[in-house]
Amino acid sequence: MERKNIFGKAMAAGALLGGGMGLGGPEEALANRADVGEVVVEKDVPGKPHKGKVLLAIHAHLDDIPYYCAGTCAKLINEGYTGYLLRTSNDEKCGGGTNAENILSNEQENIKMAKVLGFTDVFDFYYRNHRMNNISTQEFRSRLVFLYRLLKVDTVITFNPWGHGEENPDHWVTGRVAEEACWMSGMGNDYPEHMEAGIKPYGVKERYYFVGRPGQPYNRVVDISSSIEQKIQSLVECKSQGGGNRGAELRAELAKKGKRLPILGNDDETANREYVRQFYLDEYRELGQQYGLEYAEPFYYIDLRRQGKSREEKYIEKNVVNL
Ligand SMILES: [Zn+2]
Repeated sequence: MERKNIFGKAMAAGALLGGGMGLGGPEEALANRADVGEVVVEKDVPGKPHKGKVLLAIHAHLDDIPYYCAGTCAKLINEGYTGYLLRTSNDEKCGGGTNAENILSNEQENIKMAKVLGFTDVFDFYYRNHRMNNISTQEFRSRLVFLYRLLKVDTVITFNPWGHGEENPDHWVTGRVAEEACWMSGMGNDYPEHMEAGIKPYGVKERYYFVGRPGQPYNRVVDISSSIEQKIQSLVECKSQGGGNRGAELRAELAKKGKRLPILGNDDETANREYVRQFYLDEYRELGQQYGLEYAEPFYYIDLRRQGKSREEKYIEKNVVNL
């Protein structure tokens, strides 16, 4: 992943969401799908409002989730979600070792990173890194549908499937197949053998697509101030890629010259954490400031939950007569 200032300008002034997500009717539900409309700010909600719901975070590489949405994953899990993490590639090209060494170090760091954010379990699909536009998306989709149904996934957080500026095939392939599978997972006639095995259709209802490249759209800003320490620690775990050990490296480089930076402290762990805090969070700090928050992450959010009565139900209620 190449990091840049990715958020650009805010799209509109924010409406506030927090302390209950209840919405009134289908019109509001439509607004919440938000191809149109204003940016909604999602703040911390007290208690465990998401208890009983399942979140699947899907990334291609070790450092995607930590950079783009670790604060939101931690926040949602802290608020009651059971969280699972899926990594779709094998990360063989990143890590400074041979391909085989990179596969192992990224896999181990991905598990540590998941633990920091509170994920219950980790799945790895191990498609070859940087080659995912060469795989069978049908096979990929069927694996994802199985996982959605098995885990009964309510909410997916992943790449924007149609986000422009994306140059990494692992990212856009993952995003597009994840989206297809969200819909197909709820269909009764796709993969009927699952039903024979007792695994029933289960449609994904909420989707958070993170902003992976400059200019990608967002309609929701999530306040991650309360989970920022978890985001920082998750970035520290990204040592094979993502620069999680840069603080310790810099501390060692300066020490050779007889110098030190006070923010880096007296040990490697402190150096890594404080380096991340100082140098990797600018975009999230700046976005937060636009909405009066300390730190924030942006998403294109889609909510397919039915809110209130349908047009048909409303019409029947108003017009039905006895035979
Ligand atoms: Zn990536």
